[in-house]
Amino acid sequence: MSLNTQILIAAILGLIAGYVLTLFPGTQFFHAGIYGLSIISSIFIGLLKMLLIPLIFSSIVVGVSNLQAGGQLGRVWKITVACCVTTTTLALILGIGSAHLFDVGKGVDIAMFQQAMSEHQTPDTLTPTSFLTNFIQNTLINPFKAFAEGNVLAVVVFALFIGVALVHGGDRFRTVRNLSAQFFDIMMLMIGWVMKLAPLGIFALLAKLLATEDISVLSRLAEFAVVVTGTTIFHGAVVLPLLLWIFGKMDPLTFFKGTRAALITAFATSSSSATMPLSLKCAQENLGVRPQTAGFVIPLGTQLNMDGTALYEAAAALFIANLMGLDLSLGQQVIVCLTAMIASLGAPGIPSAGMVTMIMVLQSVGLPAEAIAILLPIDRLLDTVRTVVNVQGDMMISVVVDRHTREMEQQT
Ligand code: ASP
Repeated sequence: MSLNTQILIAAILGLIAGYVLTLFPGTQFFHAGIYGLSIISSIFIGLLKMLLIPLIFSSIVVGVSNLQAGGQLGRVWKITVACCVTTTTLALILGIGSAHLFDVGKGVDIAMFQQAMSEHQTPDTLTPTSFLTNFIQNTLINPFKAFAEGNVLAVVVFALFIGVALVHGGDRFRTVRNLSAQFFDIMMLMIGWVMKLAPLGIFALLAKLLATEDISVLSRLAEFAVVVTGTTIFHGAVVLPLLLWIFGKMDPLTFFKGTRAALITAFATSSSSATMPLSLKCAQENLGVRPQTAGFVIPLGTQLNMDGTALYEAAAALFIANLMGLDLSLGQQVIVCLTAMIASLGAPGIPSAGMVTMIMVLQSVGLPAEAIAILLPIDRLLDTVRTVVNVQGDMMISVVVDRHTREMEQQT
């Protein structure tokens, strides 16, 4: 049985097992079950996290040095940025559009949420300017600190520098270049081993999610949850595949078949960072993206390109405004979109990261940050789908970028 099929079956069995556990709440069976599932999922996530930083570092160093050597860095860079901006903008428009279309939050009684809001501790004010300063201060730091703390963005930046320097030095640094390439191969080999555990890990993650999340709170915010999830799925199932088909000349079925393992892992882990090793593997091995393109685009996209998060944050801001009975002007909605774009750039690829940067979006138009208390109870559940779309976007962009650079090479 192929790994893809195993993962799919494991996901379904995981959901069933999670449901079975919910039938025995508070019993010894329940606690023992959750304990066992936690152990298995921690091993799986732990292994992925262990490989993440060395993998990101080596794949960007190797990717950039190969791109530079082929003289493609400028092109790849431009196409990647253009793709990220386009897909995120479309996601934002969809988020705002659907929130308007379905009038999410209008007519819901805000008093219902008053207690949750008053109990919620608001973190320090997060404005786009302070966020940007923080962003810079956390990015240009001692690389060893970045490695030790698992600061992905800082590692990405340092790796970009090393990659460019390696090419700049030419033959002088051949040994380090070869070393990096071999190190990267070792990482990929180890990811192959971890992938063998993926079915078990996904089974445990999904069973635990279903058994421990309070699904009933969904009903209070059902309309919003359905609208956001539906729109996110629309973006992932219609908009992105259409762009892939037009600009990447790849039929969506091939794409979904080839990326299934990564997409299910994104759903189960709610973390694009934890999924990155699999995204890289799927893009290279199943979609035929050349290692130098995938090695550059995917780690970068994991950190910076989050369509699902952007869509969610824009729609959620409008939802909160409607809930409060405020009508945001067109200008304010543009501010929401721009802030949501920055917020999605800065959100790390970990579960519920979008909730933290959401504060910035709310504050940008004067909405109370405490209002995220309303969304928190359902966030872990909504996070599953938006992470899938975040990861899907990265792999899709790697296909488009690879195709365009190949074409340009053939022309020159
Ligand atoms: N969990 C998301 C991700 O890892 C980020 C978010 O919370 O929106 O991509």
